[in-house]
Amino acid sequence: MKVILLGAPGSGKGTQAALISKGLNIPHISTGDIFRDNIKRGTELGLKIKAIIDAGDLCPDDLTIEIVKNRLSEPDCKNGYLLDGFPRNTYQAVALDGFAAPDRVIELAIPLEKLEHRLTGRRGCLKCKSSFHIDFIGDRKDCPHCGGELYVREDDNPTSVKERLNVYREQTAPLIEYYDSQGKLFVIDADRPIERVFDGIRKVLK
Ligand code: AMP
Repeated sequence: MKVILLGAPGSGKGTQAALISKGLNIPHISTGDIFRDNIKRGTELGLKIKAIIDAGDLCPDDLTIEIVKNRLSEPDCKNGYLLDGFPRNTYQAVALDGFAAPDRVIELAIPLEKLEHRLTGRRGCLKCKSSFHIDFIGDRKDCPHCGGELYVREDDNPTSVKERLNVYREQTAPLIEYYDSQGKLFVIDADRPIERVFDGIRKVLK
């Protein structure tokens, strides 16, 4: 099955994607993760996009589309994919329809005004990739799950978060209507505990 996980930054896409990918045995492809990995390794691509990502803006469309197209042509995608963070605008969605149109699109719906707080208090684990909020873990520096080191994403600072939410409103939110008109959209209330959100997604993907 080819699935897109759509939702604003901080709506829980990464967390849910990890669960879905395991459950359905399809690869979790996150364009944000691919970009961050390139930045970490200091590749040519990483150097080109670092400032854009840190500012909370979108990387160039054609470059992003090319990366996704190449990734989807790898053998592990033959039974489908789970895309997280792509497409981010109508131009990318139209391009994807041309080479690997999705079967289902899941929107993780959450009031946007809640996301600024979620993102600026987010801590990620370098080892197991889990995500936490300082409201629950305070200022601890080690992962409550695996003991790994916790970090703050560079683009989770208040200025970049504002920009990312603006970009979502203006460029990504129109995709809800785009996929709804194709009859592919399923809306899940994401303002609930992780397990309940996942239960909702499981029903949709049955
Ligand atoms: P994410 O981890 O999905 O929140 O993505 C982090 C950042 O990577 C975004 O704020 C963008 O700068 C960039 N990015 C991720 N996916 C895309 C995409 N599909 N198109 C353009 N830029 C993207």
